[in-house]
Amino acid sequence: MNTEIEKTNCLIIGSGPAGYTAAIYAARADLKPIIIQGLEPGGQLTTTTDVENFPGYPDGIMGPEMMEEFKKQAERFGTDIRWGMVTSTKFSSEKGSWHEVVVDNKKTILAKTVIIATGASAKYLGLESESKFMGSGVSACAICDGFFYKGQDVAVVGGGDSAAEEATYLAKLCKKVYLLVRKDTMRASKIMQNRVANISNLELLYNHEALEVIGEKTVTGVRVINNKENKEKILDVTGFFLAIGHKPNTDVFQAQLETNEVGYIITKPDSSLTNMPGVFASGDAQDHVYRQAVTAAGSGCMAALDAEKYLAEIESQ
Ligand code: NDP
Repeated sequence: MNTEIEKTNCLIIGSGPAGYTAAIYAARADLKPIIIQGLEPGGQLTTTTDVENFPGYPDGIMGPEMMEEFKKQAERFGTDIRWGMVTSTKFSSEKGSWHEVVVDNKKTILAKTVIIATGASAKYLGLESESKFMGSGVSACAICDGFFYKGQDVAVVGGGDSAAEEATYLAKLCKKVYLLVRKDTMRASKIMQNRVANISNLELLYNHEALEVIGEKTVTGVRVINNKENKEKILDVTGFFLAIGHKPNTDVFQAQLETNEVGYIITKPDSSLTNMPGVFASGDAQDHVYRQAVTAAGSGCMAALDAEKYLAEIESQ
């Protein structure tokens, strides 16, 4: 039952780099934002180890620590950060009206602006051994973690453009890259397929699936099966990369917001504006191309500036 109702100028949904950056900007603009943190407070970076590509940290920083710093910075300017999951929304298509957001099925918040920063989640195979080595040998981001496998042998799973791109990236750093494709064809674009086929230290293994990630404290191999011949073998690798797609965390908004066919929220060019006035989208919930912490942070900043401008417009009407 929706018993408690509260009003705010700016409600931010999600607490990754996009959400916290939006909060820093919105709070400094005196919008008194509220953040609803979501299921994974701090977002995807809380599941990684060293972050070495975020500017401002010359010696790198651990992902969870970096997100704690984002949080502290947002709090410093008065952001109200709360636990909770948004369970339903009723956005208004009338400019200047309240948007209704329900948290944990019980608390209703009415917001003049809503910034969506709910991110995306990498897909994993669901193997028990895969979760055991998460962050210490298993990764879903070659650009983030590839550097730690310099000169080593690694395996990548997937047959799409992401897998082709990640395998190409890793082949420049690693001694050998195995690309495991479950079918006898790749889904990747022809140009990417040609690229991977011409990399000398990349071995394409069609009809191969990973069964188990092997190791004690860190990864030492992957047990794979050739699903055509029904033959198993072990690849001696120290890194296991998943590139089987991402899922944007946008299910709760899809009835009202325009998304592409896989659920990424569509924003108007060069802005964070969605099809609903006063509702803005940032970070991986709307970006399926770059998906980096720094680009997410940048788009969170854009969303806060867009929200501030929108509020000024409706107040002057
Ligand atoms: P895709 O959905 O295109 O591909 C996913 C791949 O993972 C498929 O080959 C699929 O196999 C495979 N896969 C899925 N589940 C499993 C599983 N359980 N076990 C083994 N393999 C599995 O995702 P991408 O992330 O590659 O791409 C998403 C979108 O982004 C695409 O539109 C792509 O074109 C685009 N993109 C564009 C880039 C560029 O232009 N530079 C770069 C990266 C992405 P199967 O084919 O058998 O279903």
